Amino acid sequence: MYGALEGGGTKMVLAAMDENGNTAERISIPTETPDKTMPEMISFFRKHDIRALGIGNFGPLDLNERSETYGSITATPKLAWRNYPLLQTFRDALRVPVGIDTDVNAAALAEARLGAAKGAESCVYVTVGTGIGGGIIIGGKPVHGLMHPEVGHALVAPLAGDPLPDGSCPYHKHCLEGMASGPAIEAKWGISAKELPRDHPAWVYETEYLAQMCVSITMFCSPEKIILGGGVMQQAFLFDGIRKRTSELLGGYISPLGGSLDDYIVPPGLGVHSGITGAWLLAMQA
Ligand code: ADP
Ligand code: ZN
Repeated sequence: MYGALEGGGTKMVLAAMDENGNTAERISIPTETPDKTMPEMISFFRKHDIRALGIGNFGPLDLNERSETYGSITATPKLAWRNYPLLQTFRDALRVPVGIDTDVNAAALAEARLGAAKGAESCVYVTVGTGIGGGIIIGGKPVHGLMHPEVGHALVAPLAGDPLPDGSCPYHKHCLEGMASGPAIEAKWGISAKELPRDHPAWVYETEYLAQMCVSITMFCSPEKIILGGGVMQQAFLFDGIRKRTSELLGGYISPLGGSLDDYIVPPGLGVHSGITGAWLLAMQA
């Protein structure tokens, strides 16, 4: 058995999976403090006698393998988890190899190997939910650098008439997360993204910001596919508008993207399972 953990700010999804990706057991537990949540997770993985663990966790994370604090959570607003040595604690408790990456790099890896970008060497996976986060695969591998990409905090240009043109991110003015995440939509329009009618102007703004993001991703990373997931993208009608606006903003400059962007900006091939599947791939790699 291999252990897979998709670590989120509200819940932890844990799975025990075999080498073919068949799931023996999957559970979901609320993310509380490390004192409470870590022992529960460790006992789940011990019960399944796992050979290796893969973690796709909310960031920011220290992913520099030469760093003293490799595999720790860093500047998160979730105070109980700030500077928490996630990888080391699992390694010490379970005594098995542990692989770690961001939740979105894990999801992007799964989409590149098995999902919507299967067969491609590159893709970008973005979740538009409580936050906005993006994982980048280039040359078949998740991108790391100084840290790891923070696509959700890239800046966008506010559209005239936006009721909250500075956005709601405590760190930046008008970054994507502060302008286009689920909570940002609700802060601007006073209605939750789930409840907004399709003809509400909110969707014009949402489409604009996500299209600006797709343009930046295209220019910076040149991926073969952009995959958009997360709660807000359950509004599937958004895809057409985002593709159309992205195409307008690109202005015909990126020649392989002639015609429609139907095969370029797509939903996740693995549905809501990209993250946990990516964590399993990280375990297999480890
Ligand atoms: P998380 O990001 O916490 O993992 P989700 O991806 O489900 O979880 O994102 C939750 C956010 O997405 C909430 O802000 C919610 O308003 C929004 N959301 C969830 N479902 C929908 C939906 N069907 N339509 C629009 N927005 C949604
Ligand atoms: Zn920000």
